[in-house]
Amino acid sequence: MANGEAKMAEARVIDGKAIAERLRAGVAAATRDLVARTGRKPGLAVVLVGEDPASQVYVRNKGRQTTEAGMASFEHRLPATASEAELLRVVADLNARADVHGILVQLPLPKHIDARKVIEAIDPAKDVDGFHPINAGRLSAGEAALVPCTPLGCVILARTVHPCLAGLEAVVIGRSNIVGKPVAQLLLAEDCTVTIAHSRTRDLPAVVRRADLVIAAVGRPEMVRGGWIKPGATVVDVGINRVTGADGKGRLVGDVAYAEAARVAGAITPVPGGVGPMTIACLLRNTLEAAGRQMDVEVALPGLSA
Ligand code: NAD
Repeated sequence: MANGEAKMAEARVIDGKAIAERLRAGVAAATRDLVARTGRKPGLAVVLVGEDPASQVYVRNKGRQTTEAGMASFEHRLPATASEAELLRVVADLNARADVHGILVQLPLPKHIDARKVIEAIDPAKDVDGFHPINAGRLSAGEAALVPCTPLGCVILARTVHPCLAGLEAVVIGRSNIVGKPVAQLLLAEDCTVTIAHSRTRDLPAVVRRADLVIAAVGRPEMVRGGWIKPGATVVDVGINRVTGADGKGRLVGDVAYAEAARVAGAITPVPGGVGPMTIACLLRNTLEAAGRQMDVEVALPGLSA
């Protein structure tokens, strides 16, 4: 780099894989404690419609990690031709079951099914994805809510660098309902000064340069350049983009130009191995939280100390 950035030390790498492993171990320990006290296991039901290969991998991993955490895992597979009414019936059955504390309908759904309608049919108390409007509303009102897993993972990762986030300038790039908006709400609840940038933001590099904490959730490979990062800032890269390298092989990159940004940032998440592994760990945390509330038992949730 011509401007002397190369002389700075490389950023600390935020090891999402190791942090997620610790979080899962904490959830497993709290689950053992809950089972010992109540004689009941937290239960997570995952519903998959159709044969999307990526979704099948996610669902398999979720099931395995749920069992490993000492929880009951239930899988419901429907054919791609299943009707919206059939899926709504499955959700209604799961809402009524006492052994199911968390329900996750794997997205995306086939086009003939209205995902919004399905999400709204999930009992908000069991909505471990945190996508139900009741939970989104509670989050924005600063009330106890089940919050979306990837945003929660971002905050837990940021907290490993800054145990107290209060007062930090945070810039979130992206305003989707599943990542950008909830992560901004969570950071606001942590007393950050939050800016949400998006596709219509003017002079994005200047906005990002203000940030002590950058959360990139855009879905554009390596869009955020090293020169946009304030020296010493913490960078959390949510993006997962498959690109073809010069050698013709596919690889995953984030929304941040990692090598450039790592020369300037104080700490940075890699892709893969950063935010990605946190999502399922946070799903298990949400399931434990939901189970504790439904059983009316206090549980010590790992990952975010007060
Ligand atoms: P999305 O497409 O719903 O939203 C992207 C956002 O980026 C939009 O709000 C848009 O305004 C903004 N944007 C687009 N172009 C921009 C530009 N040029 N400048 C500034 N902002 C711009 O995407 P999403 O669902 O929020 O996901 C974002 C990324 O995070 C994707 O790469 C996705 O694969 C990844 N993701 C990862 C995980 C995980 O790690 N587990 C989970 C969810 C999403």
